[in-house]
Amino acid sequence: MDETCPFCKYELLAGAEICASCGSYEERPDGGGALLFIIGGLISMVIGIKLSESDALLWGLMVAVLGAAFFAISIKRKPFWVRGY
Ligand SMILES: [Zn+2]
Repeated sequence: MDETCPFCKYELLAGAEICASCGSYEERPDGGGALLFIIGGLISMVIGIKLSESDALLWGLMVAVLGAAFFAISIKRKPFWVRGY
């Protein structure tokens, strides 16, 4: 797949994330923050189960579900190019 820089039309190598001509770079979506939510929620759920605390279990479930939804949205975002100078 051939790609060109959206700013200077320099031809990029496949999968390149930085334009060698003008220094623009590609920002890729990343779900790292959402993963923390999911992990935190799962830990709360485990603690809730171990201690038979239904509140902690519910909270953990809510956080994990929110994290999963956020993760699904964030990885659907398209990569976009940031102009370099
Ligand atoms: Zn460029």
